[in-house]
Amino acid sequence: MFTQPGAVEPDSNEGIKRTLTDVIMAASANAPRSRQRRIGPSEVGDPCPRRLAYKLLDWPTVNDGGDPWPSIVGTATHAWLADALLLHNDKEPGRFLIESPVEVDDGSVSGYRLSGSCDAYDTATNTVIDHKVVGDSALRKYKAEGVREQYRVQANLYGLGFERLGFFPQTVALAFYPRGGMLGGMWVWSEPYDRQVALNALKRLGSVRDALVALDPESRPQMWAHIPAAATSACRFCPWWRPASTDLSVGCPGDLTNTTQATKAA
Ligand code: SF4
Repeated sequence: MFTQPGAVEPDSNEGIKRTLTDVIMAASANAPRSRQRRIGPSEVGDPCPRRLAYKLLDWPTVNDGGDPWPSIVGTATHAWLADALLLHNDKEPGRFLIESPVEVDDGSVSGYRLSGSCDAYDTATNTVIDHKVVGDSALRKYKAEGVREQYRVQANLYGLGFERLGFFPQTVALAFYPRGGMLGGMWVWSEPYDRQVALNALKRLGSVRDALVALDPESRPQMWAHIPAAATSACRFCPWWRPASTDLSVGCPGDLTNTTQATKAA
């Protein structure tokens, strides 16, 4: 058989898959979202105080969250949508503020300087828009039962950030795009901007901070047990989830946690 000089053995389908998977996993591990260490507006409304506490202390993580593909699809979709809105701004200059940095708290409410980047702000209608790329079952759940409080908090925190910049946000909106569907399946949730929702969430973050100061789990690991948890099915995505863990300074067992305690704290 004729062989080109320098030719190598053809790779198998499995080999090609493994190479691409390794490349994708490495890029995903280095993505800005994976490396983000400071708490951001998307996390402030997390129902679990213990998860917030781990985050605030930048505690070593034990769960990489599993397959990164949904988050890669989400990140890529956000980038595409940003380009689309930018293109629209050629026709209607200044209509959309895209991925604008906003300072949500200068430290005076929660004790933390909190900033983030908002997907879009429609200056024509004073609407905060946050894109969410979700699977079918999540979309069905949000339509039937309402959106996660964490998302609602996030959108209102962005509203507060824009208010602090001198804007007058009227509406906060979440645009849900089906991860595996068609554009026609987009679903939008919105409500009037409510500054108090944002302030309450920041105060709650401040109370977790106060608990950390009082309990000092960094030097007294047994104190982790006194930071309440709110275990849900989302525990499996928690960076500190360690099934059957009996040492909270290493990881949290999630749904084995005392949920009565959690309900009180949430
Ligand atoms: S595993 Fe669940 S209960 Fe434990 S800290 Fe994470 S989100 Fe909270």
